[in-house]
Amino acid sequence: MPGDPMGFGESGQRKQIMETRYFDGRAVATQMREQLATTIRQQVLQRTTPPGLAVILVGDDPASDIYVRQKRKAAEAVGMQSWEYRLNASVTTDEVVDLVKTLNHQPNVHGILVQLPLPNHIGREPVIEAIDPLKDVDGLTRVNQGALMKNQPGLRPCTPSGIIALLKHYGVNLEGRRAAVIGRSTLVGLPISLMLMQQQATVTMIHSHTQNPKELCRTADLVIVAAGRPRLVTREWIRPGAIVVDVGIHRLPEGLCGDVAADEMDGYAGALTPVPGGVGPMTIAALLQNTWQAYASQVAQ
Ligand code: NAD
Repeated sequence: MPGDPMGFGESGQRKQIMETRYFDGRAVATQMREQLATTIRQQVLQRTTPPGLAVILVGDDPASDIYVRQKRKAAEAVGMQSWEYRLNASVTTDEVVDLVKTLNHQPNVHGILVQLPLPNHIGREPVIEAIDPLKDVDGLTRVNQGALMKNQPGLRPCTPSGIIALLKHYGVNLEGRRAAVIGRSTLVGLPISLMLMQQQATVTMIHSHTQNPKELCRTADLVIVAAGRPRLVTREWIRPGAIVVDVGIHRLPEGLCGDVAADEMDGYAGALTPVPGGVGPMTIAALLQNTWQAYASQVAQ
């Protein structure tokens, strides 16, 4: 159908069996990272300090450990400096806040990321709010979340930015489209719903208290699933031909899976982001872009 390259819209309603397109987040993220590496090589040459990213990891959650290593490796591969601060799970909120404040004052650190989730006894809000908004590369401080709400410049949360970049790459036109977002966290669900609205989509938010979530979800051309529930979203939730973005990532004994029953989407959804290789690499690419943005705003001052 001309003008509807993704096969959603009318074509989606007519056909029950179709070829599902897989949005290759790994490939798109690689392109973004290569472009950024070139920019850094060209622009940092004149300066003494490259962009620097500090990552704080509290405790020894194995999944967080993997994410932190991936982020540091990716940062170094594009020519950034990176530092890792590993704190014992028994530290106090004040100790984490003190570390953040120390890093706020280090001129070679341009981005600070506190790997979430934090252990239960640590106050997430005091830690996040201690981050200098200019260095808040996860876009979680109230300054940056407020800027997002007002559609003003600022650092945006990485996963939603990565999703928008992926949709853009595949030519998904969001204007006037119906989107459903499952989940309302400040990390993913809430910011992606605002960003989709800013791209002129009509957004329905679905969360754990929503009544008739499947019926609501089936009205959408685009579904973003960030519920943190393995294989929650089955065919019953999805209109044939819809685009499905699976944010979830779960390490189960039988292997990795997302929040979407991916096997049910093949030949049914118009497009799907795979797990792994979909949203995850885009999140890291967006983090690197945020670190570059943070660097540019600090070295220009
Ligand atoms: P969260 O637990 O903070 O939020 C989950 C949201 O889902 C809540 O708003 C809740 O109301 C909603 N929800 C839970 N069960 C539901 C249900 N049955 N029906 C409808 N809504 C429901 O999680 P989060 O931080 O937003 O992360 C969501 C998932 O995405 C997790 O699996 C997380 O690991 C993953 N994640 C992946 C990346 C990535 O880069 N791929 C980044 C961030 C998060």
